[in-house]
Amino acid sequence: MDNRYDVIVIGAGPAGMTAAIYAKRAGLNVAMLESMAPGGKMVKTFDIQNYPSYSEVNGADLSMKMFEHTQNLNVSYLYGDVVNITDGEYKKIKCADGNEYEAKAVIIATGTKERLLNIPGELELASRGVSYCAVCDATFFKGKDVAVIGGGNSALEEALYLAEGVNKLYIIIRRDVFRAEEIVQNKVLNHPKIEIIKKHIPVEITGDKKVDGLVIENVDTKEITKLNVDGIFPYIGSIPNTSFVSDLNITDENGYILVNEKMETKVPGIFSAGDCNRKELRQIVTATSDGAIAGQNAYHYIKD
Ligand code: NAP
Repeated sequence: MDNRYDVIVIGAGPAGMTAAIYAKRAGLNVAMLESMAPGGKMVKTFDIQNYPSYSEVNGADLSMKMFEHTQNLNVSYLYGDVVNITDGEYKKIKCADGNEYEAKAVIIATGTKERLLNIPGELELASRGVSYCAVCDATFFKGKDVAVIGGGNSALEEALYLAEGVNKLYIIIRRDVFRAEEIVQNKVLNHPKIEIIKKHIPVEITGDKKVDGLVIENVDTKEITKLNVDGIFPYIGSIPNTSFVSDLNITDENGYILVNEKMETKVPGIFSAGDCNRKELRQIVTATSDGAIAGQNAYHYIKD
């Protein structure tokens, strides 16, 4: 059967691509199954400065290099949005388009997606001024005023990228401290176009056909202010892409997959790697590390 493999890796971000490289180099018949372009969140990152061996690298370029590595090894690349995995001697993977695949071992590496603000105007004005991808959309906001929401690494790094082209950029944080690394905080604090608004939360995005403002509320005084902005970039954290494993009962209460040090879930032959796992540090380098461990242990599961 051509839909049968030794290992299927679901997701082709850094964790998935590394898992595929390790499993393939161990002599297994390996496919990656992905619903988008390879690279995952890396593709949407303009400038990566903490992946060893590159002082600075563009996320799309790093994604392409990792993908080329998998293709030089002849890892199969399948398109599909997985909706379900069924356990068995061969695990059955069902996709939204009706395609089904089988594998002796499955490695889940589906990462996370952006958490929504869930305020009026957000969904209505998505792609009309509300964007979750600065790298994709920065060009539409050249010379305009924009707001970035959140104080983590994603928010601050993307704010620095956007600030190159915009007229003015507000960063809205709900506390009076950031979560991002200090090196990034310092760059933001010293940027002439960036104004930090602390202790405020967004309550409404306004605009008819496109965004014309962001309404924010002071968390202490409840005072309301409207910022006249054309673009809004929420970067308020992530939620794991794991709804398709809900039947397997392998996640914690927040949907993050629980694994041991071998990246094994509690279902034999189902491994998980990268940001979708419950873990301390979500970085490209920790994703690749998880992927290597998962790929190697998938090999042992099949051959030992
Ligand atoms: P994060 O670190 O969880 O930060 C989320 C930010 O959004 C926090 O400032 C949080 O505020 C705020 N927030 C959450 N819910 C909110 C709401 N409803 N309204 C307003 N603000 C809200 O998320 P992230 O920046 O996406 O990063 C995720 C992970 O990836 C982290 O582990 C991060 O270190 C990693 N990452 C690393 C890099 C890098 O190393 N270069 C780059 C990107 C991401 P509070 O602080 O008040 O909770």
